[in-house]
Amino acid sequence: MTGRAVLVTGASRGIGRACAAAFAAGGDRVAVHHRDSGPLAEQVRDALPGDGHVVVRADLADPDQVRAMVDEAAERLGGLDVLVNNAGVFTPHHILETSYEQWQREWRRTLDTNLVGPANAAWCAVRHMRERGGGRIVNVSSRGAFRGEPSQPGYAASKAGLNALGQSLARALGQYGIAVATVAPGYVATDMASDRIDADGEAIRAQSPFNRVARPEEIAAAVHWLASPEAEWASGTVVDLNGASYLRT
Ligand code: NAD
Repeated sequence: MTGRAVLVTGASRGIGRACAAAFAAGGDRVAVHHRDSGPLAEQVRDALPGDGHVVVRADLADPDQVRAMVDEAAERLGGLDVLVNNAGVFTPHHILETSYEQWQREWRRTLDTNLVGPANAAWCAVRHMRERGGGRIVNVSSRGAFRGEPSQPGYAASKAGLNALGQSLARALGQYGIAVATVAPGYVATDMASDRIDADGEAIRAQSPFNRVARPEEIAAAVHWLASPEAEWASGTVVDLNGASYLRT
């Protein structure tokens, strides 16, 4: 099946940009979501192979903006077959080194962006998918969901919640031909992880027997497959993309 309508959140850079490229290379039409105004998303759209790609904007922490974004993507793409909930935030905040006010801000922002935003996008997207008789949702979670790093309480909880959201939606929506799956990468070479990789690169790379971190394209390839018609039986799974790093620790 080609020529599907695909919405990728956070697609102006990093893993999301690689996902947009993978779907476009497969013949799909992509809504490139971004948060900020500026030319980056337009540049990403213009560099995609094929025609019919669009740019949509929303702050994922704002439910009204999420709803408007999904509806706009569906209207401009002529429907919606695939939602990739990729966008996310990561801000380290250790419980003993954070003021109570900052703690509130970080939890609210992280959960609103990484968990409630994807849940809201899914709510909106499945209504369009049902008009098509089915669809795919792929969530981008994190290894952090399983490991509970000391400085990532909000991030870890938001991603663990995203894993659970994916499983629940998979069970709720399978009867409507909508499959929902999740990928949980470890370190990926993007802006989000660059500070940590710069500061501690040798130790981070050594976590994997391949002695490197993932490339965004490797995560995108898994997302692309999980969104394919062939991957219906993968619905409800959380795919651990970690270059065998667990086997080293
Ligand atoms: P990135 O920082 O390059 O991309 C994140 C994207 O999310 C950006 O485009 C950003 O604008 C968007 N975004 C953030 N907050 C938003 C908001 N409120 N509204 C709309 N958009 C918002 O990082 P990335 O590595 O490409 O991250 C993509 C996903 O992969 C994230 O969900 C992240 O948690 C996950 N992830 C990344 C790594 C890693 O090591 N890079 C590891 C595991 C999981």
